[in-house]
Amino acid sequence: MNNLQVRDTNKKKIVNFLYTNNGATKQKIAKTLGLSMPTVSLILKELSARGLVKKSGTLKSSGGRKPVVNSLAYDAYFSVGIEITQNHLRFVLINLGEDILHYKIIREHFQNNDAYYKKLADYLETFLAGSGIDRSLLLGIGIALPGLFNTKKNLLEYSPTLQVRNLPLGAITKYISYPVLANNEANLAGFAEIWHMDEVESAVFLSINKGVGGSIIVGNKVFNGMNGRAGEFGHMTIVKDGLTCSCGKKGCLEAYCSTQVLTEPNFTDVDEFFASLQMGNQYCMQKWETYLDYLATGINNLRTVFDSDIILGGEIVQYLKQYSDLLRRKLLPLNSFGEPLNYLHFSRYSDKASAIGAALLLVDAFLSDDTIRPPRLNYSDSA
Ligand SMILES: [Zn+2]
Repeated sequence: MNNLQVRDTNKKKIVNFLYTNNGATKQKIAKTLGLSMPTVSLILKELSARGLVKKSGTLKSSGGRKPVVNSLAYDAYFSVGIEITQNHLRFVLINLGEDILHYKIIREHFQNNDAYYKKLADYLETFLAGSGIDRSLLLGIGIALPGLFNTKKNLLEYSPTLQVRNLPLGAITKYISYPVLANNEANLAGFAEIWHMDEVESAVFLSINKGVGGSIIVGNKVFNGMNGRAGEFGHMTIVKDGLTCSCGKKGCLEAYCSTQVLTEPNFTDVDEFFASLQMGNQYCMQKWETYLDYLATGINNLRTVFDSDIILGGEIVQYLKQYSDLLRRKLLPLNSFGEPLNYLHFSRYSDKASAIGAALLLVDAFLSDDTIRPPRLNYSDSA
């Protein structure tokens, strides 16, 4: 079990129902979910005692008492997600409804030392002050990390991008005085993307940054695999004896589809590369064509294996969207089943997805776990 797993309880069903239906009467909830009226009444009472459900109006009566409309109080609590990358820190504040209320990206080179972790906590405090929220309503902090994160041991086992091994979460969050949960950035990005996609239960998320990774979501749960390495799509072999990958092996997807492939050696970041591409730079256009050929190969392999929706994410996505016709043209002839490309989606949150997913860890824990006390009881003296 891990924190990304959402318990399928009646409570969760009701909360989810209220998430997607902007207000509903007790009767409608009971009827739609096939629950008894007393069960629904009991759960609504508990949720409203926790500040999660509010009465948002009444409907016209067809005789007798007017039916009350119940809505989820999205602003009852807040959560902060932090994504730690090699060169940046991304902070996002969301409410229970996954609405982004405050966002900040800070250029800060990762260093595995106390000075960096102290700075991280200081940036967080500045971010919170800037957001203007009441800290007593903060559920806690979620952290998205690049690399293999062991949720049982709360240990970053290996991160090539941060160049660390076996780094305890406790070291990173030493100066942070709120509850903290963490997970791998690609898992979290996928988690953020499907949180609101009610029609999608299973999907594959392909995350393209300097590293290429992803996650596999089956039945609204992240599939971790035997060693927590499921979804490491960056290291699928797509070219036998091909280019050397960051993992030391040859021909991995990451060696062909990392953003580094586009930026090196001439550009400092993807923004610069795409600026040149859009100006019609021949060299960039050629590079981009080749890049998309390999990307299409990777995507087609994933579709063949999983037969599910595929969501593309990471920092490339804001640009990739503009070239989606070109990508689709490359994908079509690869498909063995002649199927349409409506399985392909682009990330809704683009480069913010991991930070949002991290923040959702706390929301998810709060919504699904009875043992989490309302945070205002937890840290009255930490603000
Ligand atoms: Zn590799």
